Amino acid sequence: MSSSNTDFVLAVEGLTVSFDGFKAVNDLSFYVDKNEIRVIVGPNGAGKTTVLDLICGRTKATEGSIKFRNKELTKMKEHQIVRAGVGRKFQTPSIYGDLTVFENLEISFPRGRSVFGALTFKRDAEVLQRVDEISRMIFLDELLHTRGDLLSHGQKQWLEIGMLLIQDPELLMLDEPVAGMSVSERRKTAELLRTITKDRSVIVIEHDMQFVAEIADKVTVLHQGKILAEGTAEHVKQDPKVIEVYLGH
Ligand code: ADP
Ligand code: MG
Repeated sequence: MSSSNTDFVLAVEGLTVSFDGFKAVNDLSFYVDKNEIRVIVGPNGAGKTTVLDLICGRTKATEGSIKFRNKELTKMKEHQIVRAGVGRKFQTPSIYGDLTVFENLEISFPRGRSVFGALTFKRDAEVLQRVDEISRMIFLDELLHTRGDLLSHGQKQWLEIGMLLIQDPELLMLDEPVAGMSVSERRKTAELLRTITKDRSVIVIEHDMQFVAEIADKVTVLHQGKILAEGTAEHVKQDPKVIEVYLGH
C-alpha cells in the first residue's frame, strides 16, 4: 500500500469529476471525523449533490481518492459502498406509500444475517427490537401501523432516515433533509441528527443557515466545485468570500 492510513471516517483527496470537460467537482479535499456532523452549503450548481453522488458510487470520479475507514471507495460499486457502511438519502423521499411505517422499516433491515432454522426466531426478535428503537428515534412510534402515503412530508423524510438508520451505517449522507419542513419539524430533525451522531458521522447538505448553525460541527462551503471556506458556522458566516457568493443572495 502506498497511501497512508488516517483516523478520519472519511478522507476525500483531490476529488474531481468532469462532465464533458466541465468540472462539477474540482480537486476537492476534505476530512470528516468520527461522530461529526459536517454540513455542506453553497449556491445552486456548486457541486454539493455531485459530491454525495461520488461518495456513494452513483457517479464515478475522474480523478482523486475517497477513503471511508481507509477503504478506497472510488473503485467500488454502489451496493458494495452501502454494505461497507455508507447510507445516502436523496432529496425526495423514497418510501413505500402502500406499506406501513413498520413495514417500511422492516424491509430495510439488512438481510442475510441469520435466516436458517432456529435462528429465524432470534432474527425476528432483533428486527422487532430495532424497529421499535428506530421508530421512537424518528418520532413515528405511535404511527407504526399508518401507511407511508398518509404521513406528512416531514414524517416521510424521517421515515426514510429511519430506513437508513436500521442498516446502521457508519456514515450517513442527507441531501436537504429539512426542505419543506415546518419549524417544529426542523427542531425535531436537529434533535434526531444529534442523537444519531453518537454512533456515526453525518454529512448534510443544507441551505437554511439557522439550521446549519444549530447542527454543524463544521461547515464546508462549496463554490464551483471547490472549497470556498471551511470551519464553524460562526466562522464561515463572517467570511467575506462566503458573504459575496452565497449569503449575500
Ligand atoms: P448542487 O447540488 O450544489 O446544486 P450539483 O452537484 O447538482 O449542484 O451540480 C453541479 C453542476 O454539475 C451543475 O452545473 C450540474 O448541472 C452539473 N451536473 C451534475 N450532474 C451532472 C451529470 N450527471 N451530467 C452533467 N452535468 C452534471
Ligand atoms: Mg443539490
